Amino acid sequence: MSDSESSGPKVIPIVAQTPAVPPQVPADDEVMVSLYQAHEKIYPRSVSGLFSHWRWVLVWLTQLVFYGLPWLEWGQRQAVLFDLGARRFYIFGLVLYPQDFIYLTGLLVISALSLFLFTAVAGRLWCGYACPQTVYTEIFLWIERKLEGDRSARMRLDAGRWSLNKVARKGAKHLVWLAVALWTGFTFVGYFTPITELAREFTQWRLSGWETFWVFFYGFATYGNAGFMREQVCKYMCPYARFQSAMFDKDTLIVTYDTERGEPRGARSRKADPAALKLGACVDCSLCVQVCPTGIDIRKGLQYECIGCGACADVCDTVMDKMGYERGLVKYSTQNAIKNKWTQAETWKHVFRPRVLIYTSILGAVCIAMLVSLALRTPFKVDVVRDRGVMARIASGGMVENVYRIQVMNATESAQQYRIAVSGLPGLALASEEQVDVDPAQAHWAVVRLQLPYEAAGAGTHPIHFEITSRSSGAQVREKSVFLVPR
Ligand code: SF4
Ligand code: SF4
Repeated sequence: MSDSESSGPKVIPIVAQTPAVPPQVPADDEVMVSLYQAHEKIYPRSVSGLFSHWRWVLVWLTQLVFYGLPWLEWGQRQAVLFDLGARRFYIFGLVLYPQDFIYLTGLLVISALSLFLFTAVAGRLWCGYACPQTVYTEIFLWIERKLEGDRSARMRLDAGRWSLNKVARKGAKHLVWLAVALWTGFTFVGYFTPITELAREFTQWRLSGWETFWVFFYGFATYGNAGFMREQVCKYMCPYARFQSAMFDKDTLIVTYDTERGEPRGARSRKADPAALKLGACVDCSLCVQVCPTGIDIRKGLQYECIGCGACADVCDTVMDKMGYERGLVKYSTQNAIKNKWTQAETWKHVFRPRVLIYTSILGAVCIAMLVSLALRTPFKVDVVRDRGVMARIASGGMVENVYRIQVMNATESAQQYRIAVSGLPGLALASEEQVDVDPAQAHWAVVRLQLPYEAAGAGTHPIHFEITSRSSGAQVREKSVFLVPR
């Protein structure tokens, strides 16, 4: 018997329909099941405790750095500025050119390794404490609580009819959200355009098209993601949630509910003896669900929606305190520690397992390599281009002449003089200025003419080297090129 002939209700998945396909009308025995879960607004309850405290420390720290850094001065310029137009990246005393792309690669490798390491040690530590989505949601939620009240007040306000009070509260909230979002967009652009100039242009409404686009785009993304999308970004949009399981194992610290201690759950009076009632430590107050920013129940075990923020652990500890029970019914622990009833010391011993030590050593090695490479970096860059407009030619005195364009990029904050020398062929000499002056953090194109006695080399191309030496530091860059002798 085919499926269609089988008895019982049929399940018809609803997928996006195109106008060309007429809508299916379910028969009486068919059940409609949507593949898309309807969104239910989450009203996280405010919570205080150790992990909440650390989350706020991280919110302050990350935002002080983000909002404050573009305003810091370094000498006569902005301390951190990614000047895309001029192709210069200023990071405090460092001036980087696009040729220093390797450092960006190093930074990405360090970020990826750090993520692997922290995930192996403590799961979604990044998500719960430092991810911009978490941080901005926390800030927007704080504003919401200040203007609309805590969970129950917000639920009442949303469920109630529109009134002057509701309009005023909602209006004020959106105004403050928009101000924070716009300020965030402005700060973001301030990393790419000198922020004092940007502020002047902003107040005089003279922003360029791109600046306007990015201020509003980034601001709008912040407003939408932190104000409305919230946990949906973590649940449906962020790829990290999907591949985190590959980095977890049974010795990874995660927020866990101690089922053996907590079950069977049930309400009871503070004075009641749980053993006599044959109950576990969980009083089934549901506070852990109410504080959860993703709206899940940690008592159901590890779920991909859990961002490891520890809010449920904080609130459960307050419940345990009130009941006079031992803390830690919900806590950061490992699956092995819960199963084997390990002490804290034993748990930590297993957390620092070979995999974590390998990640740490690789990360340490990459960091050291980056620092050494930055310390030994030549403070200027050179590009040599043979001038294609001027082919090899015979100059006066029977000399063969080739013309080159040499770009010298000064990566220091002071004016520099560089000496150009050439080697590779006997009798090869410079017929133009051997000195190049370059302003601080600027690049200079110099036209360089090389001459060789005609009989000194046969017809064809000959490899040569340019040696550019900084007169102040003695640093030298050697660049390959070729010298062309015509027939
Ligand atoms: S907060 Fe603690 S006691 Fe209350 S329901 Fe959650 S796990 Fe049980
Ligand atoms: S289950 Fe707990 S740790 Fe996980 S997201 Fe919810 S409150 Fe945070």
